[in-house]
Amino acid sequence: MGKNEDLFIRAQKTIPGGVNSPVRAFRQVGGIPRFVSRAKGPYFWDAEDKRYIDLIMSWGPMIVGHANPEVVEAVQRAAATSFSYGAPTEGEIELAERICHLMPSVEQVRMVSSGTEATMSALRLARGYTGRDLIIKFEGCYHGHADSLLVKAGSGLLTFADSTQNAPSSGGVPQDLVKHTLVLPYNDIAALEEVFLKQGEQVAAVIIEPITGNMNLIKPLPEFLSTLRQLTSQHGSVLIYDEVMTGFRVALGGAQSLQGITPDLTCLGKVMGGGMPIAAFGGKKEIMSKLAPLGNVYQAGTLSGNPVAVASGLKTLEIVSRPGFYEQLTSQTEQLMKGLKLAADTSGVPVSVDSVGGMFGLYFADQVPRSFEEVTQSNIEHFKQFFHAMLNEGIYLAPSAYEAGFTSITHDSEVIEAILAAAQTAFKQLARD
Ligand code: PMP
Repeated sequence: MGKNEDLFIRAQKTIPGGVNSPVRAFRQVGGIPRFVSRAKGPYFWDAEDKRYIDLIMSWGPMIVGHANPEVVEAVQRAAATSFSYGAPTEGEIELAERICHLMPSVEQVRMVSSGTEATMSALRLARGYTGRDLIIKFEGCYHGHADSLLVKAGSGLLTFADSTQNAPSSGGVPQDLVKHTLVLPYNDIAALEEVFLKQGEQVAAVIIEPITGNMNLIKPLPEFLSTLRQLTSQHGSVLIYDEVMTGFRVALGGAQSLQGITPDLTCLGKVMGGGMPIAAFGGKKEIMSKLAPLGNVYQAGTLSGNPVAVASGLKTLEIVSRPGFYEQLTSQTEQLMKGLKLAADTSGVPVSVDSVGGMFGLYFADQVPRSFEEVTQSNIEHFKQFFHAMLNEGIYLAPSAYEAGFTSITHDSEVIEAILAAAQTAFKQLARD
C-alpha cells in the first residue's frame, strides 16, 4: 500500500470521507486521492513524491503559479507583523481600491473569507435592498453552499415557476427556503422572459456564473446576457455576477469586461486572494450602502480583510496587472486546447474543447455544450478512463467531468508539450480499450 492510500485511510477516521471538500475524494472517478506535500509553479508532488502537472491550480486561485516567489515574500512580510488584528488596515483599502479600479462596476467592496460568504452576503444585501424574497439561479451553476443556493429545479420548462417543483440538492435545507429560489436553464431566453412576465416584481436578484465553471466551462449566449440585464433593470431586480471563478481569470476585468455587461453586484474570490482564504462582494454604492454599519443589512467577519490574505491578494493582482499577462495566459491555454483536440481527433475519440483566458473546458462530446442538459450527455466513461490514464502519466485533471480546468502563467510551452505527450498516450489507450 502506498503513502497516499495510507493517508486516505487515516484521514477517513477523523475527517468525514477523508476530505475537507467533497470533490477531492475522487468519488466520480474512483481511486485514491493524491495527498499533496508541496508545489512549485505548474507542479505539485504527492505523498509518494510523484510529480504532477497541476491543471486545477486549487480550483482557480493559483494563476501566477504555486509558491510564486513574489507572493511568498509578500505573505512572509505580512505574517511577521501578526496574522490578524480585527481592526482596519491600510492594506484592505489598497485591495479595495485595486478591485474597484480593475472592475469599474464595483464602486464599493466588502471583504469576506470565502466565495460562499460572498454570494450568501450578496443575496442578503439584494433582498434587503429590494425588500423582496425571490431569487433566480441557473441550473448547473454553483454559488457556494449557502442554503438558498443549494437548490435545483424540477424538469419541464414551464414548471419552473411552480415552487413545489424545486427540491433542495442537499439534506438540511428547509423546503420553506427553497420556495424562494427559482432555477432556470442556462442560456434559455424564453424561460427567463416567462418568469419575469409572471413574477418580475417579486424577484430580488438573479445570480449567475457569467461563464460557468461548475458544470464544466459553458459560455453564455450574448442575447441571453443582454435579455438578463434588460429584464432585471426593468423590474428593479439586482443582477449579481458570481465571478468567484472568472474574476481575474478569464480577463483582468473579469467576464463582465469581455461581455460588456454592467452587473449591480459582483462576487469575487479565488484569484483575488492568490490562494489565501479571502473573497469579496461589491458593486453599486447605492446598494452597498445598505450594509451595516451604514444600513440595516448585517454582515461581519472576525477574519474579514485578514492582513496576510490581503498581502497575497494585492501581490497576485499586481502581477496579473502587468502588460501582456492575459495575452500570454490565453495563448498558452489555447495552445493546450488545440493540442488536446488534435490528439483526440488523431485517436478517433470524440472530444470538443473551449477556453477563455486561463480557464478551459474539455468535453467528451462531439460539440461544445451550451447547457447543463447538454453537458450531462457527455461520455463519463471516456472521461474517467482519460482521467486515470493522465494521472498515471503525471497530469492532474479535475476529478470530475463537470468541472472546468485551470492553467497558470507558469504553464509554458514546455509544460504544455509534456501534457500533450501524455494526452496522446492516454487517448490512444482509450481508443484501444
Ligand atoms: N461561486 C463560484 C462560481 C464558485 O466556483 C465557487 C467555488 N468553486 C464558489 C462560489 C464558492 O466559493 P468557496 O468555495 O470559496 O466558498
